Amino acid sequence: MTIQNYKLQNMRIDILTVAPELLESPLNHSIVKRARDKNVVEIHIHNIHDYGKGNYRQVDDYSFGGDSGMVLMIEPVFNMINDLKKERSYDEIIYMSPDGLLFSQSEANRLSTKANIIILCGHFKGIDHRIREHLITREISIGNYVLSGGELAAAVIVDSIVRIIPGAISDETSALSDSFQDGLLAPPVYTRPAEFNGWKVPDVLLSGNHKKIAEWQEEQAIARTKLLRPEMLND
Ligand code: SAH
Repeated sequence: MTIQNYKLQNMRIDILTVAPELLESPLNHSIVKRARDKNVVEIHIHNIHDYGKGNYRQVDDYSFGGDSGMVLMIEPVFNMINDLKKERSYDEIIYMSPDGLLFSQSEANRLSTKANIIILCGHFKGIDHRIREHLITREISIGNYVLSGGELAAAVIVDSIVRIIPGAISDETSALSDSFQDGLLAPPVYTRPAEFNGWKVPDVLLSGNHKKIAEWQEEQAIARTKLLRPEMLND
């Protein structure tokens, strides 16, 4: 799918977390910030503690069966999602999880076409499994390793989704020519000076011959893909 096929829309992302401060910086700078400023995307960060019980706004409890570590309770999450759903319908309710679907460019492309999504960040030992069974429509992992919470993982997927929404990057072709978008890794890029410390930029890039440059970039992209991600060429 190319960006041209995308429906132009303003996307809304609601992130549910017990640690909102972990998301503030990554989602308030650079391309994501500009996309928010331009209203290409609305991002709302909600503190699950607002739905917690009692003076301590409790949202976690010991796990049944005696495993160590606290588990995020179903009730605050259920109530929070319910309140959001009263306002609008959601295309996906995503849980960030180390055992979820491994995140990829194609999943970022797919999600960037959605209108409204919720992303739930786990913490502690994880979340009450009934949330996953009854409320979640998709589970996403950013890799086979365990983080302390879903916030950094959510920031990773939101960044990759937002930067490809039309309007987020002023030069959209730039997002299209990134690695993975056309099934190949990106070719090397260089900038001035043309020579530094005796290390030269490839002559062809200075030639001004656009056809030759395009051929060289394609060759490089194929060679790098063969070397670094051979499995991409088999797909
Ligand atoms: N006990 C769980 C791990 C909990 S880690 C297990 O073994 O599977 C705490 C939280 O961090 C999780 O609820 C999840 O939201 C998030 N998390 C950890 N690693 C992640 C990963 N690789 N990708 C996405 N989210 C992750």
